[in-house]
Amino acid sequence: MTAIRLEAVSKVFEGEHLAVDELSLEVADGEFMVLLGPSGCGKTTLLRMIAGLERVTAGEVWFGRTNGTRLAPRDRQVAMVFQTGALYPNRTARENIMFPLQIAGQDDADASSTAAGLAQILSLGPVLDRLPRTLSGGQRQRVAIGRALVRRPSVFLLDEPLSNLDTTMRTELRQEIGAMTRDLNVTTLYVTHDQVEALTLADRIAVMRDGRIEDVGTPAQVYNDPATAFVAGFLGSPRINLLSATIRVTSHHRVALDFGAQSIQLSPTDRRSLILRNHDGAQVIVGARSNAFSLITNQDVANQLTGTLRAFEFHGQQSIAFVECGIQVVDPDRVGLARPMHASPDQDDEVPTSLLTRLLSRVGRSG
Ligand code: ATP
Repeated sequence: MTAIRLEAVSKVFEGEHLAVDELSLEVADGEFMVLLGPSGCGKTTLLRMIAGLERVTAGEVWFGRTNGTRLAPRDRQVAMVFQTGALYPNRTARENIMFPLQIAGQDDADASSTAAGLAQILSLGPVLDRLPRTLSGGQRQRVAIGRALVRRPSVFLLDEPLSNLDTTMRTELRQEIGAMTRDLNVTTLYVTHDQVEALTLADRIAVMRDGRIEDVGTPAQVYNDPATAFVAGFLGSPRINLLSATIRVTSHHRVALDFGAQSIQLSPTDRRSLILRNHDGAQVIVGARSNAFSLITNQDVANQLTGTLRAFEFHGQQSIAFVECGIQVVDPDRVGLARPMHASPDQDDEVPTSLLTRLLSRVGRSG
């Protein structure tokens, strides 16, 4: 069942600033959806509209079969945790977590034992009776999460909950958030601009840009088969290589990628060859992640790109080589929204950028 359905939701702030632009999205019951995107793309605004903290300018917000567009925040069964969850400073961790239950009329003993149960999942057991100011940033954030979840909301919204924590704490709490939301089977929307959080936590990722969703899919889908050059450029470190090329097809239906100064040929049995051979002369963007390349010094190998090594960086588990090949590189932030892809080889369609993502891997490995 669909837990949240956004139908062409827009938000225009004063001064006519369009923060969210006719955005539609469905989140399934129990799903962990991550909203990923650069600063200012409208992630927080979208979350606040779902929580009812921000009025929707146009469009509709549905919770299951209920149109929640105009519901007051308290009637939405939605809980939200912010970057720094504000706690009641004079209440202990336990009292903070149980407070929403007391407000709802539950007796203290029941509320306390529910809070203790949640605290166990959140690794807060030993610090339950301490005041917020004596807790670490990570522990305070755990208390905020516990307090948000204690009334078992249908929808759990988190806005960059780990951004103020150090690396170790981030990893720990990230794993706990993942485990806990799975255990409680709560529908979760999680905002971040950190791609590691997105890739590790999400059932599906929605990549946002300029108030719109540019791609939605499982982490593997958006990473391996991004819908647009922007999405390809946003996910992955080091950043994907996006190279400008022209398709050349020989009289024997062999397909080559012409990079201007250099070119490489695709294998005739490559699935992408079958599509591209109908597109002689087409301008394309070739996406190739750095691990698709191997550095070789043998001049005799056919089908290789030649370049000058400009820098070599040691990063611990891997090293990154920067090689200048005289090929025009495309800036993904400047590429507009591409048309939807996934064309089958029979379709006489525009060349789908996504199909080119791993084109060079074969070439790199053959070297
Ligand atoms: P970040 O990752 O930096 O938090 P974000 O993706 O969450 O960014 P939003 O905070 O949703 O982005 O902001 C989207 C756009 O709307 C931005 O251009 C922002 O300046 C603008 N905006 C947000 N809140 C308001 C407001 N109350 N009034 C006017 N403009 C706003």
